[in-house]
Amino acid sequence: MNLEEKIRNVQDFPKEGIGFKDITTLICDGEGFKLAVDRMADYLREKRVDLIVGPEARGFIFGTPVAYALGVGFVPIRKPGKLPSEVETIEYDLEYGTDILEIHRDAIKPGQRVAIVDDLLATGGTTAAAVKLIEKLGGQVVCLEFLIELTFLNGRDKLDGYDVQTLVQYD
Ligand code: 5GP
Repeated sequence: MNLEEKIRNVQDFPKEGIGFKDITTLICDGEGFKLAVDRMADYLREKRVDLIVGPEARGFIFGTPVAYALGVGFVPIRKPGKLPSEVETIEYDLEYGTDILEIHRDAIKPGQRVAIVDDLLATGGTTAAAVKLIEKLGGQVVCLEFLIELTFLNGRDKLDGYDVQTLVQYD
């Protein structure tokens, strides 16, 4: 099965000129969703990860089944004000303005091997911020895994030195 065929391109969303990669068409297809999660989990199996970290919100969709398949825990990274206990916070630059992400301070123990799972790598800003949060807590980031990579946005440049794995690439 070709995963790319299950991903819908929505032109001019959320703004004119952007071709949004819509993963809802993939995840409502049982076979397609299972194949995507199985492939992501297979790649991570030899990495001996202790935890999967997934950024809100589509990182939850792929990160939790991958964690379940590996039998490891899942840690959410969320927008500000959503996590109930003590948090570590990071502010990072967007094309226009800044954004903030948070993680529970006690979610990762120093030395734990962590993989970040998200649906899509674009500019790499979200993932670079997530990496910093994990490393602030003493976690060791062993893999960054995405269903989709928009290669023309050069997100890998911001993630130099990390193991970046993607299943479907758009040039
Ligand atoms: P980045 O920080 O790499 O520029 O953007 C990646 C984040 O934005 C991911 O968390 C991803 O969910 C979201 N994102 C950006 N563009 C798209 C897109 O075309 N499709 C989907 N599904 N997510 C996107």
